[in-house]
Amino acid sequence: MALASEIGRKDGAYKRAVELLRKAPLIDGHNDLPWVLRKAAGGDLAAYDLAKVHPETDTDIPRLKAGMVNVQVMAAFLPSEIANPATVTLEQIDLIRRMEALHADVFMPIRRATDISAAKRKGKIGTLMSVEGTVGCEGSLAPIRMWHQLGVRLITLCHNGSLPWVDSSTDKPISGGISNFGHELVAELNRLGIIVDLSHASPQAAHAVVNASRAPVVLSHSNAHALCPHPRNAPDSLIRAVADSEGLIMATFVPSFINAELWRRIEKVKRAHWPKADPAVIAALDDPPEFGPLPSATLAQFCDHVEYMLKLVGPDHVGIGGDFYGGPQPVGLEDASVYPALFAEMIRRGHGEQVLSRLAGANFLRVMRKVERVGRTIEKERQPALKTRVRRHTRRPAAKARPPGEILGAARMAAAKPGKR
Ligand SMILES: [Zn+2]
Repeated sequence: MALASEIGRKDGAYKRAVELLRKAPLIDGHNDLPWVLRKAAGGDLAAYDLAKVHPETDTDIPRLKAGMVNVQVMAAFLPSEIANPATVTLEQIDLIRRMEALHADVFMPIRRATDISAAKRKGKIGTLMSVEGTVGCEGSLAPIRMWHQLGVRLITLCHNGSLPWVDSSTDKPISGGISNFGHELVAELNRLGIIVDLSHASPQAAHAVVNASRAPVVLSHSNAHALCPHPRNAPDSLIRAVADSEGLIMATFVPSFINAELWRRIEKVKRAHWPKADPAVIAALDDPPEFGPLPSATLAQFCDHVEYMLKLVGPDHVGIGGDFYGGPQPVGLEDASVYPALFAEMIRRGHGEQVLSRLAGANFLRVMRKVERVGRTIEKERQPALKTRVRRHTRRPAAKARPPGEILGAARMAAAKPGKR
């Protein structure tokens, strides 16, 4: 099988990109491989064997190596409305730790910024553990501290659903930004030296967090809203605010976050046929005939987002967070081997080593160092926060998790016994 990285390998720009990535750290801000492994193999890593190329999906050891990835942020992702979120979060963390242990010859856990250069020196792929969505903390800060103990160094505050303490960009707001507990959460993440990630947060929530945070914050996998008005993308004002925090926005490969026409078409199809379906599922469908073929997102369009961000906030505040998730990817960004091709395209567009090495990873490294420093300062100032537990946080209705028959049954029972409420 031809790896995506083999396309254009003879090109001079490609060779220069490879040279660049030999020297510069390449740190990718988001990969959902742990969820893919959970779904594909029930988390059975020996059965799945990451050492082999898995052409049906996008990330495995051979392609991370071909992609010259120095550090991959591995997301302990879970959907906002999953049952038993505290357990699932731990299962996802456990999966990442088992992956690190089973492939200890390849992966090196990244627990502090200094580990990154060590991984590069040893020729290993650093794995930096993140949790995507704090639903599993269940409104308490103690689990957050335990996730930190287990090695989590970046936390995405929410996913596609709003939580009682932070509003999502793709759901109805609950607190109009972040709640009091949301403020406590940000303060505790600052104290622990965990990077706060605002991808998925609503712009209002994100601005509130930027204002509250004492450390730089990131958008680990988001694009420019000005080029593609998907709600997951960041408006200029938010990109500027994140840059002002000394943080960065990490441009992402998700096709509908890149190509505005594709996003509009998916919305149209969704409205017409699948009002509740996941955009990734829609994008995977064979061109719904009544709407014509879906337009493609491309590597060139991705680079347009990167260049837009560079122009807006300068080279110190932009990075890359691919967000491979086992679904459809843009043309030219099909799998984890594409990073040299991506940098070759940026070289062809006239960007120099100074800018590209910061884009590749130097910016993320700077943020991680600063977040650690701020954490050490705050740790001297105060003890872990205790009186912040949300005791009556509202549970989101579990309707989606239940089979329809059960809901129907419950409704019938309610109708049959009008006196019982
Ligand atoms: Zn995400």
